[in-house]
Amino acid sequence: MDTHTLIDNGILKQHLIDPEICIRCNTCEATCPVNAITHDDNNYVVRADVCNGCMACISPCPTGSIDNWRAVPVARAYTVEEQFSWEELPGELAPYELVAAGGEPATEVTALQQAPEAPAEPGTQVFRSAQYGATVPPWSAAHPYTNLFPPKNPTTATVVGNFNCTEAGFESETHHVVLDFGSMPFPVLEGQSIGIIPPGADALGKPHHARQYSVASPRNGERPGYNNLALTVKRVTVDHDGNPVRGVASNYVCDLKVGDKVQVVGPFGSSFLMPNHPRSHIVMICTGTGSAPMRAMTEWRRRLRNSGKFEGGKLLLFFGARTQQELPYFGPLQSLPKDFIDINLAFSRTPGQPKRYVQDLMRERAADLLALLRDDNSHFYVCGLKGMEEGVVMALRDIAQEAGLSWDALGGTLQREGRLHLETY
Ligand SMILES: Cc1cc2nc3c(=O)[nH]c(=O)nc-3n(C[C@H](O)[C@H](O)[C@H](O)COP(=O)(O)OP(=O)(O)OC[C@H]3O[C@@H](n4cnc5c(N)ncnc54)[C@H](O)[C@@H]3O)c2cc1C
Ligand code: SF4
Ligand code: SF4
Repeated sequence: MDTHTLIDNGILKQHLIDPEICIRCNTCEATCPVNAITHDDNNYVVRADVCNGCMACISPCPTGSIDNWRAVPVARAYTVEEQFSWEELPGELAPYELVAAGGEPATEVTALQQAPEAPAEPGTQVFRSAQYGATVPPWSAAHPYTNLFPPKNPTTATVVGNFNCTEAGFESETHHVVLDFGSMPFPVLEGQSIGIIPPGADALGKPHHARQYSVASPRNGERPGYNNLALTVKRVTVDHDGNPVRGVASNYVCDLKVGDKVQVVGPFGSSFLMPNHPRSHIVMICTGTGSAPMRAMTEWRRRLRNSGKFEGGKLLLFFGARTQQELPYFGPLQSLPKDFIDINLAFSRTPGQPKRYVQDLMRERAADLLALLRDDNSHFYVCGLKGMEEGVVMALRDIAQEAGLSWDALGGTLQREGRLHLETY
């Protein structure tokens, strides 16, 4: 891959991220097929020599901060180090500055095109689960509101509930937190997320950036008829390598008291949304707090069913955690009717038991998943830790291929039709 589609007459249309709006959610870095995006503790940035303008990162970005482009002479492209130090985007270069630097400003920079995929070397084809993740919603999704409150203009919510929704007394703790927006419009759909801005400043003295949390309640509120929503927040006490750390936002949220005020941005997300047409099936595959959007979708379907307004399709849940004690909402899950939702739980660290992951359960249920993979009414949602994504999509691929289906064709269809959604962090 190269950047040739972005260069015209010595001028590069350089892809940049607005550091003032970006909420550092990592979505773009996880999406980019050529690893053009990287980050440090300060900023998310795009490598000019790698980005080919394929636009795959544009619609998944929840804030729109990634859709910035500047015409610069190729020789003066902003380096990654320069971008790491930015507090705001540089202005456009004036035409005389482009000429002075050897460019041809009168020329319209080439339209960004889909760059052709480089042919893979024989035997080097790698499985990249992210390429099957949809960037469009299901056809019957409701229309979402997004970015009503951008990072520069947050709104305030009041905490009206906060409790530990995992078993008390264990090292890992996840909280169910309810926020009320009073009379401020903050409409959300199941699958969307919001950003919370922790108070205070980071090590560089800059205000903390917002952290994203999935909405765990249905569209008509955690408490129906009230302007509120729920979050499922895991207290981060160790980093991804197991070293002790005190996560800034997660600890702030888990320690909130009823009556506290919180700075909120969003809502974000326009593709990880549930289908609404009769008989649409939802397959939910999650670990830990990835259960938040699944809880929201399940609860919306449950309320519709209770009011007799929905002739629902199947709900199939694959839910993983290290132990039963760490699984959010374990108790409430047990009370859902079996004819309403088919629940499959996987625990990877139960003493004396073999390790089981969600993809193991999926393979055990291959016959049921195959029937759903063959059905155009089926929608698949994957949410949780980054590490689960590849194994889960591979399990879907293997189930399809073992039945003689082409995964390239089926995976592509699921992606294009907004029927396979991946949100891992
Ligand atoms: C789309 C999206 C939806 C999300 N939804 C949820 C949600 O519903 N519930 C939820 O709890 N989180 C969710 N997250 C993650 C959340 O945004 C934060 O990243 C997380 O709470 C850690 O933030 P922090 O400020 O506490 O940690 P930081 O202070 O930002 O980080 C401290 C250290 O912990 C590491 N770290 C960050 N997150 C984790 C983690 N989960 N496990 C282990 N180490 C970690 C960091 O790499 C860093 O080294 C979501 C993220 C995205 C992108
Ligand atoms: S435009 Fe494509 S290549 Fe460039 S950063 Fe976005 S996803 Fe990566
Ligand atoms: S807000 Fe957009 S640009 Fe910033 S990290 Fe998330 S996806 Fe990337």
